[in-house]
Parts: sequence; C-alpha cells; structure tokens
Amino acid sequence: MKVSFPYMGPVTAYRKLFEQLGYEVIVPPRPTQRTVELGAKNSPEFACFPFKVLMGSYIEACELGAELIFSSGGHGPCRAGFYGEIHARNLKNLGYQAEVVIFDEPLYNWKGFYNNVKRLKGDNSFFRLLRATFLTYRVMSELDKCERLLHRISPYQRKAGSAEKAWLLIQKEYANVFNGKGLALARSKTEEIIKEIELSKVEERDRIKIGIIGEIYVVLEPSINMGIENILNDLGCETERSQYLSEWVDYMLIPGKGKKEKGIMAKAEKYIDIVIGGHAKQNIGHIIDFKERGFDGIVHLKPFACLPELVTESIIPEMSRVYDIPILTLSLDEQSGLTNNLTRIEAFVDLIRKKDRARHIS
Ligand code: SF4
Repeated sequence: MKVSFPYMGPVTAYRKLFEQLGYEVIVPPRPTQRTVELGAKNSPEFACFPFKVLMGSYIEACELGAELIFSSGGHGPCRAGFYGEIHARNLKNLGYQAEVVIFDEPLYNWKGFYNNVKRLKGDNSFFRLLRATFLTYRVMSELDKCERLLHRISPYQRKAGSAEKAWLLIQKEYANVFNGKGLALARSKTEEIIKEIELSKVEERDRIKIGIIGEIYVVLEPSINMGIENILNDLGCETERSQYLSEWVDYMLIPGKGKKEKGIMAKAEKYIDIVIGGHAKQNIGHIIDFKERGFDGIVHLKPFACLPELVTESIIPEMSRVYDIPILTLSLDEQSGLTNNLTRIEAFVDLIRKKDRARHIS
C-alpha cells in the first residue's frame, strides 16, 4: 500500500512511522510554486492558504501513486474540521482514488480515533505500532531540539551556510534510525556535526531574539513561509518558533504532557477567554511568553483567509503597546512575494536594533 501525508516540517521524523509499519512511503515533494498553483486552482477561492497548499501537495502525492493519505483534522470554529472531507472530494473529482484518513483529537472522538489507529496499524500488531510510534516521537523530539538550537546559533556562524549544511546532515543521520541503537548513534553524530560549526562570540546584550508565532502550518513549513527563520538568522537574529511538531503531539495526543501549552493558553486568558480555533489563543499567550523571556520582537505569520489569525492580528497593536514589543504581521498566500516581504522584515530588524541601542544608551 502506497502511503502519503502532508509535507510539514520534520518529514524525516514522521515518515519513519509509516516505514516501520511496512508501508511504501510516498513523500510528497517539498511544496513549490507548482504545488501552490495546483492547490489554488483546485480549491475554493476563499479557502485558507494552508488548505490550498495541502490540496496541491495531495495532488502531487497522488501523481506519484499515493493510495492512502494520512492527515490531521480539527474541530471547533476553524475550517480545519472540513479539510479532510473537502480534500478527499476534490481528489475524487480530479479522478484520484486515494483514501484520505483524518486523525482528530482522541478526546474529541475516541471511536473515530481508534478506527483510524486500526487503519494505520494494518496487519501489524499493536505492539509493533506502539514501538514505531514511540521511535517516531523520539526522532521528532530530537530533531526539533536540534532545529531549535541551530536557529539560535546560526546568526553567529563564522562560515555562511554552515548551520544550514549541518541541519541537512543531521536529518540524513536521523533518516537512518530504525531502533534505539540507531538513535544513540544519530545523537552522537549530531553532537559532532554541531561542534564543527565555528561560532563568533557575541555578548548577551548584543543578541537579538525574535519569536515566530502564527498558524501552525505556516509556522512549521519553511517552504511556504519564505524560510523566515533563515532570513532572520542571516540578518543576525536568533529565532524561536511558537510551535514545534513534537510539542503539538505532546498537547494533542499524549495525556498529561501538554502542560507547557496549557500554561501558554492561561497567559492569553485576559485577551481571548475561549478557544476560537487554530492557535489564535496560544499565539496571544506566546507573545506574552516571548516578552517575559526577554525576546526583542515577534514575527506573526498569518495565512490569507485564516479567521483565527485575523483575530490575533486585531489584538496585536494593543499587545505591542502594552508589552512594549515590536510585532510584524506577514500575510501569506499564493500571491506573496519574497522581495516585498524582505523589505518589511529588514526594516523591522532595523527598528529593533535601534530600539535596543537606545535602551543600552539610556
Ligand atoms: S487555523 Fe486558519 S489557516 Fe489553519 S485551518 Fe484554521 S482557518 Fe485555516
């Protein structure tokens, strides 16, 4: 059975799950302009941007022969709850027979979740499924940790591109992990790879830290957010995202492990007291959290036609004033141009530098 999934962030990690279960894995191509155009052409005009990119990605996976697509869904007041159904219908209308299986939060629909787990398990035993899931989760967590570290040190690399090169090598190491021994080996090779990045010494007071918040898909997937973290790193800023896939798994799927996200949501209570869909509430909490942790600015990524992030955007001017932190909202869609956004990002970083200098002088 040829299986595929959305292309989102650390694909190296979650393709493992399917490989270990004996599926033939069709990794959809990294989203490109073609993916976006295919998706936009075959989606309702006012669907949100991630819907369109996923549509394009699924079509590309089907072109490569995918027969079964696993994805995650959603419920509540955002459109993610309709995604799977509409994607499946569109694929059918285009003549593709791939089945789309959507995983929702287990607490929301236990029975549906269990049926999907059985579908994923196929002929494997539950023990094998558990072992594969656990290894996948560990690979995902370790890759997230590495990526987080690389975006913290990348602005200080002596040789341009060495952190990016290291990231590719690290992903290759983890791609070969199929058991605990392999994991330990990948971990030690990763340490060596990271040690080889030569760094300039920079005083704490001269560091600029920028938090990235926004809708989960555009935050996690560099190919559709213009590689925002690399852009900011190249401009000399450390970056950290509000979302990492392993943390999303902690919150959504592992009972008792989502404490961090709950804490973040509690911080947002004053501004949004109910869950309004997507990660709008978390994003408000992350603004406060980044400020409390000494970050100098925040970039907010908002997909076009995303209602939850539209709400976040409307609260941002007030939060920027109250918490005295610059926040730049970038709207992303199939028309987004890198050059236009680059100018805005550069101006934003200049503003933060000037603000920082003024603070040190006074
Ligand atoms: S959070 Fe926004 S972009 Fe994501 S599915 Fe919901 S409406 Fe679409």
